Amino acid sequence: MSARQEIGQQPLHDRRRRSFLKASGAITAFAFFGTVTLGSIAYADALTRAQRDRLKPDDILALMKKGNKRFYTGKREDHNFLAQQRASAKGQYPAAVLLTCIDSRAPAETILDLRIGDIFNSRVAGNVANPDILGSMEFACKLAGAKVVLVMGHTACGAIKGAIDNAELGNLTGLLAKIKPAVAATTFSGERSSKNYAFVDAVARKNVEITMTNIRKDSPVLAEMESNGAIKIAGAMYNLQTGVVDFFAG
Ligand SMILES: [Zn+2]
Repeated sequence: MSARQEIGQQPLHDRRRRSFLKASGAITAFAFFGTVTLGSIAYADALTRAQRDRLKPDDILALMKKGNKRFYTGKREDHNFLAQQRASAKGQYPAAVLLTCIDSRAPAETILDLRIGDIFNSRVAGNVANPDILGSMEFACKLAGAKVVLVMGHTACGAIKGAIDNAELGNLTGLLAKIKPAVAATTFSGERSSKNYAFVDAVARKNVEITMTNIRKDSPVLAEMESNGAIKIAGAMYNLQTGVVDFFAG
């Protein structure tokens, strides 16, 4: 029996499923869709515009939480990056734009178990915003259709420690100045030093909160999109010790 005849005897949805699996190579890369109700796209190698547009901001946050759980429980997807690269080469439809630290131990795509093309990721020491980052976020949301702005800090952050210690070095001095308001705004009863990790992490969390406030204040474009419900501006802290991303409530 030829392959054509064999396929011809199968129900339509099975045929579609088979051809899609054949096209994508394997049951892989369902970072954003593995457990969602969108079963028909569960095996896609990259987000399509239609898939992304169907997701609401809260869906996207939920999918990132699930991806992080796969990461910290050792159940990451077996990513076929070559298939993802090929599937995303002609267009990108990322669901979110992230602002994260440059720390080598906190790569968002990995710790959230995402694929090529799932998110925009802006990285700068201490995950602070500036006009160029806001411009990037406005591009991501207003022009490219992303629906979540996620500011993600992390524990034991060197930039936060530097701000606490009033470190000075070339252009780093100006960068740390953007973090210092978070140091001052952190209420903390213990020792307020960079050697006290509890304090460092409390400042890092406050820094995420202040950065979220600054994004709303300094980007009327994003603030309006948030008030319209088109996007959600969210915060999170990544724990280097546990691998868990703690998403802020709200
Ligand atoms: Zn850092």
